[in-house]
Amino acid sequence: MAKTGPKPNKTKERKIPERRCTGCGGTFPKKDLIRVVRAPEVKAEDPETPVTPAETTVSRVSVDFTGKKAGRGAYLCKKEACLSKARKAGRLHSSLQCEITDEVYEELAKEIRLAEAENDSEA
Ligand SMILES: [Zn+2]
Repeated sequence: MAKTGPKPNKTKERKIPERRCTGCGGTFPKKDLIRVVRAPEVKAEDPETPVTPAETTVSRVSVDFTGKKAGRGAYLCKKEACLSKARKAGRLHSSLQCEITDEVYEELAKEIRLAEAENDSEA
């Protein structure tokens, strides 16, 4: 494979943070990935739900649009193929060590469709 063109201005080189996609396992610039974050555990305040620490992990997984949410994160390409791979293999689940609800997958799917639509309009 030939390299595509000369590198721009070496002095201005900045390290692009890269993360691994939970679906395909490839490494990509963080900005090209969707972050799924599991919020830090909060003690349940509901007295009707007795909490057994470490066992009762309430699903607090959400799609992080800002990339700034606190908590354990997992990354995914903006591709439906990666999402379904990750979903089938339960990789988000094992990576976040937390149950991933259908809602989260729905939100991811929505986000991916939006991203794909954006790419189309740019082309
Ligand atoms: Zn991927």
